Amino acid sequence: MPELPEVEALAGYLRQRAVGRRVDRLEVAAISALKTYDPAPAAVAGRAVIDARRHGKFLDVVFDGGLHLVVHLARAGWLHYREAFASTVPLRPGKGPIALRVRLDDGSGFDLTEAGTQKKLAAYLVTDPQVVPGVAKLGPDALSADLATFAGALRSRRGQVKGVLTDQAVLAGVGNAYSDEILHAAKLSPFALTDRLTDDQCATLHAATRRVLGDAVTRSLGQRAAELKGEKRSGLKVHARTGLPCPVCGDTVREVSFADSSLQYCPTCQTGGKPLADRRLSKLVR
Ligand SMILES: [Zn+2]
Repeated sequence: MPELPEVEALAGYLRQRAVGRRVDRLEVAAISALKTYDPAPAAVAGRAVIDARRHGKFLDVVFDGGLHLVVHLARAGWLHYREAFASTVPLRPGKGPIALRVRLDDGSGFDLTEAGTQKKLAAYLVTDPQVVPGVAKLGPDALSADLATFAGALRSRRGQVKGVLTDQAVLAGVGNAYSDEILHAAKLSPFALTDRLTDDQCATLHAATRRVLGDAVTRSLGQRAAELKGEKRSGLKVHARTGLPCPVCGDTVREVSFADSSLQYCPTCQTGGKPLADRRLSKLVR
């Protein structure tokens, strides 16, 4: 799932490549992906791309005249920039991976795609990004929040730090993968309770958040958009590395599974060497 660093890099890529170009056409292949109907997709035609921004994990392509294409890529969505399209025939609604296509006046453009059968990618054509419900509820940005803002946001919600870190209303931009990485870098258990974090732990977590996200953005920027997914994997120390050695201490990375997700952590680095209870596993034992 694309998180803050990947979306930041996609926005950066669009700023380099698409800003200044005019839109020929916005084509909608997955009707259910476009959540708004007014303005109509035809309203984008002829407008110039003037910026690309990020709100949490939302990408915001800005057109002149105050129009925004705001996109949440969900789990399996991505943006593919095309230097040229094979055909000028408009996309027809169908079951393929392409949800939306933006054709620009130099023949290039981009496809918003979604792999798999679960279609969750959401696009909004709006005059103000704040009318998108997911954008309106975002907490402070995880990459730019200063320590006071960060600590205030984290302590505003009592719960396990893994869940609170990934709650977009608390802090915007961090998802399952980077929260594993941030907690590993901060040497904190994913189950630590936010209201019991000391000031020192909060400061460590804040520094780890900025470092992990900042490093991932730096790695991702300059990469071609299509390659960003691979780049994300190569920088990870614990996430999606169950059973592999922790690159910091050599202990074996472990996993806790939930109904539709899992988290990874290093016992030596994060939980005093003690494995966390895996609910799925203990259910099997019982
Ligand atoms: Zn370790």
